[in-house]
Amino acid sequence: MSTSLKTIAVVGGGPAGLIAAETLSAAGAKVTLYERMPTLGRKFLMAGRGGLNLTHSEELATFVGRYGEAASWLKPMIEAFSPADLQAWAQGLGQETFVGSSGRVFPKALKASPLLRAWLARLSAQGVELRLRREWRGWDAAGGLLFAGADDAIETAVPDATILALGGASWPKLGSTGGWASLLADRGVALAPFQSANSGFDVGWSAMFAERFAGEPLKNIALTFDGRTVRGEAMIAAYGIEGGAIYALSASLREALATDGAVTLEADLTPDVSRAKLTDRLHRAAGGQSTTNLLRKAAGLSPLAINLLREAHGVDLPREPGALARAIKTAPLRLTGMRPLDRAISSAGGVTQAAVDGDLMLRAVPGVYVAGEMLDWEAPTGGYLLQACFATGVHAARSILKA
Ligand SMILES: Cc1cc2nc3c(=O)[nH]c(=O)nc-3n(C[C@H](O)[C@H](O)[C@H](O)COP(=O)(O)OP(=O)(O)OC[C@H]3O[C@@H](n4cnc5c(N)ncnc54)[C@H](O)[C@@H]3O)c2cc1C
Repeated sequence: MSTSLKTIAVVGGGPAGLIAAETLSAAGAKVTLYERMPTLGRKFLMAGRGGLNLTHSEELATFVGRYGEAASWLKPMIEAFSPADLQAWAQGLGQETFVGSSGRVFPKALKASPLLRAWLARLSAQGVELRLRREWRGWDAAGGLLFAGADDAIETAVPDATILALGGASWPKLGSTGGWASLLADRGVALAPFQSANSGFDVGWSAMFAERFAGEPLKNIALTFDGRTVRGEAMIAAYGIEGGAIYALSASLREALATDGAVTLEADLTPDVSRAKLTDRLHRAAGGQSTTNLLRKAAGLSPLAINLLREAHGVDLPREPGALARAIKTAPLRLTGMRPLDRAISSAGGVTQAAVDGDLMLRAVPGVYVAGEMLDWEAPTGGYLLQACFATGVHAARSILKA
């Protein structure tokens, strides 16, 4: 069938569904986009509150490695719709991008709303029909898609092909509840259980520390777990700790927590200064100073870092310079649990690689393709989440176009 005659249902109006609808309609397909919420792109807009980290500027091989076990699966899709393609796409919608100090890529507007507005205008110009407040409920006996609208009225659609882009299971109030999992499991689609990804961890802070420092960033630290060290920033929360450096380790921390019940992470509070140099500085400055003054002046620690050190090692820190330097560079943080899925930035789990073919079509339901966070991959924050959602959305759409 020629592309212009194909009718396609795209279900889910997040970035994966929107880019799939754009790709298909640009090629002449007749696309209807279904979304359960009254408006589109709610999680995308939420991501915009943090500046909208669209992608990352690092070298592609390093970039792809961020997807861990899913790297080889996603690689061809990310190569075919690369970080450079994503930036060019944003620029095409009038949103210039820039590379931040950590290599992360953001739109200059540092929010999602202007990009989303321009995007929706393009979809409308390309003839994409929107069916909002339509919740997908599975298939009828004849294979038609079932949607529940207002007052639970059911409507059916029988497209030539379908793309499901229903999101993961974090932040359910934004629309992605993971409720689709049982609908797919009933059709024999293999799923991995949802788990928190890019989520904070519980730490048993003292009441004084939690009250005084919750919401404060711990800048320029290095965290080590299981032989892997990550440089960056973390944020103290009343319940524990969150932020980029923690998220980068969250997959291995989550696994260790599941088996061991609690895990200990090592924080280096002066990653730019070697232990020997720090020992020397502490030695020279020691004199009659209080430990707090020594930590502030000789080690350059902030009040937050000094108090964190006391939380980690107990109130009585060693005075001997070598031992104090070691304490600063290997502060143990005991994590006792992970924050629940509904507060995680993203979820791991979902439709497994084995459940789809190379075109992202469900092996158990021919003609139905899957894209975005509902696929079973995970990655740290840094723009990797949106990049994979875009790349898989484009891949599913192109697969339909070539079929
Ligand atoms: C606070 C926060 C900040 C973030 N910041 C960033 C960032 O800076 N950079 C980054 O790369 N990533 C970020 N992310 C993650 C990123 O936003 C998501 O990975 C991305 O939105 C997932 O895209 P998606 O299209 O797969 O799913 P979603 O964006 O979740 O969209 C899925 C859509 O499907 C709809 N839907 C679900 N079920 C049904 C149904 N049964 N019927 C009809 N419609 C349905 C939902 O309502 C939703 O609109 C952030 C996430 C959060 C929560």
